[in-house]
Amino acid sequence: MEKRFIYADNAATTAVSEEVLNAMLPYFREAYGNASSIYKLGRDAQKAVEEAREKVAAALGADPKEIFFTSCGSESDNWAIKGTAELMAKRGKKHIITSVFEHHAVLHTCEYLEKHGFEVTYVPVSDKGLIDPEDVRKAIRDDTALVTIMYANNEIGTIQPIDEIAAICKEKKVIFHTDAVQAVGHVDIDVHKQGIDMLSLSGHKIHAQKGIGALYIRKGITLPNLIHGGGQERAKRAGTENVPAIVGLGVAIEAATKNIAERNAVIIPRRNRLIDGMLKLPYTRLNGDREKRLPGNLNISFEGIEGESLLLMLDMNGICGSSGSACTSGSLDPSHVLLSIGLKHEIAHGSLRLSIEDDVTDEDVDYILEVIPKVVERLRSMSPVWEKMMKGEKYQ
Ligand SMILES: *Cc1c(COP(=O)(O)O)cnc(C)c1O
Repeated sequence: MEKRFIYADNAATTAVSEEVLNAMLPYFREAYGNASSIYKLGRDAQKAVEEAREKVAAALGADPKEIFFTSCGSESDNWAIKGTAELMAKRGKKHIITSVFEHHAVLHTCEYLEKHGFEVTYVPVSDKGLIDPEDVRKAIRDDTALVTIMYANNEIGTIQPIDEIAAICKEKKVIFHTDAVQAVGHVDIDVHKQGIDMLSLSGHKIHAQKGIGALYIRKGITLPNLIHGGGQERAKRAGTENVPAIVGLGVAIEAATKNIAERNAVIIPRRNRLIDGMLKLPYTRLNGDREKRLPGNLNISFEGIEGESLLLMLDMNGICGSSGSACTSGSLDPSHVLLSIGLKHEIAHGSLRLSIEDDVTDEDVDYILEVIPKVVERLRSMSPVWEKMMKGEKYQ
């Protein structure tokens, strides 16, 4: 078996595509003007920014005036949540609804607001990793300022019933924000049709560079600024525009939202083959709903082993994956997402997430399915937990 290099961690970050890089390059050394300057060099930069804004808007079914560039997905989440909190607190609304398995950019922002006089309801998720819209409805109160529910989960890939949740929020006249960082480019999104009020996205998950994001804010919602200063982004988000990154995001989102169905038709069978192949091993389980999940995502728990050791062994075999999310790996706490769907700590610890795109070939799938059983067997043979399990002893 010849060693390969397989990048299967696109939920952590993606490579900047050739197309994106080429579109960005002129804006470093040729068209490097400040988009606020009035000479041609500046106006050209401004024009490039506005073209990118149109591309982002078109990809989401939004109006360009509703798109604000930010420095990342985390900033978009922070702005949407803190901004709405500040706005609605003035009307006496200091209650926020989110879910237990959001990305930390949302969860930690909500926890921060809890320390500043807001109340937060964390709706649960099912053992399949899905939110019940009725739980959201039940949680809404007269003083609810915001509902923020992620579009697709970054660890287990489950796609939430966003349309139903948005409809409930509309009926109850509550602002609805969704962190769609993992969903953009993998599922079709139309913010106006779907009734989404605010949506966060990030460039580096869709083949643009790290450090660029956007927030869609529906017309009619006027958030206070998160960053104060100059008049950029319609005086809502100060800071000289990162023109190359913005241009890159425009090209990236256009490419990512084109031919979604065709790409998924290639990715899904490969992903399913990986899932079925891994589930052939004993004491394994798939985390998250099988159908309502991102096309390239799989998350499997292998009982009796440590996810970190598994990742290192996969790395030695040229395979990049993840266990838990990149932000929390390195900590010994098991993933809050896996715990939220009811996994015991020791099972959550032995989990592997792969997030593939269409560059992972059928031969790559064969290779991964050759490597995994060997590595899992090896780790289990060295694992005291596994030994106890096999002797039928209970472990906690
Ligand atoms: C990656 C990610 C973020 C953070 O985006 P950055 O651009 O890295 O700040 C937020 N939410 C989800 C669901 C993500 O996957």
